[in-house]
Amino acid sequence: MKTLIYSLRSMAIALRNAIRPPTTEGFGYPERVRPERYRNSFALVHEPVGPDTPESGPEEACIGCRKCELICPSEIIVVTPAGKAVSPTTGKKRGYLESFILDMNACIFCELCVQVCPTDAIVMCQEPTAPVFFREDLLLTREKLYANEHQRTPAWATGAKLVDMQDPDKLSPEQQAAKDALAAEAAAKKAELAAAAAAAASAAAAEAAEPALVSEVDKSASEPPETPAEGAEEVN
Ligand code: SF4
Ligand code: SF4
Repeated sequence: MKTLIYSLRSMAIALRNAIRPPTTEGFGYPERVRPERYRNSFALVHEPVGPDTPESGPEEACIGCRKCELICPSEIIVVTPAGKAVSPTTGKKRGYLESFILDMNACIFCELCVQVCPTDAIVMCQEPTAPVFFREDLLLTREKLYANEHQRTPAWATGAKLVDMQDPDKLSPEQQAAKDALAAEAAAKKAELAAAAAAAASAAAAEAAEPALVSEVDKSASEPPETPAEGAEEVN
């Protein structure tokens, strides 16, 4: 009897779920709205175009410093620097890149490589990585990474933005407003105290000047009246 009840209950649950609308979404459709900081895949970028940009075009931003390679926890980045040369943009010596390989097979999307980049040369992209049949297709070479610069949308972060965001001394807008208010209050109080001190000093100076004036007056009052000079004849 117990078994029959369990079976009927199971069938009821199965029937109820069979007519319930789906709670999942099919892959790829409808297209999901990604959050602003969604990141996937990578790109290497060039310097922004400016008045000093040479005719040959903007230079690549990567200076081959290998910081991204050294920090990557999955050890999937291999940077080969090409040594230093004079930059046609700045006229100063800078490093250049010979080859760059990033193995997407083991990336954990931690974004540390972006964060440590001193020139904002490596960025992550918003588009998801296309599925591939072969693992070697997930190796991002220097050429693929520079192609992604034009084919994909960069994600929110750059090295400079991440460093700024994670500054331990950085305050939230509310904390900054409270700090500004306190500073303004302290400045007003300081100005008030300075004005009071100046008023007290001028009062003290006036007080000090007053007895001197009084003693001068007293002195002149106690002096005998001028007597006629000796030998002067009295005029009747
Ligand atoms: S996101 Fe993290 S795991 Fe992926 S390449 Fe960069 S540092 Fe390595
Ligand atoms: S991508 Fe950035 S951190 Fe990596 S080698 Fe180039 S300049 Fe250095």
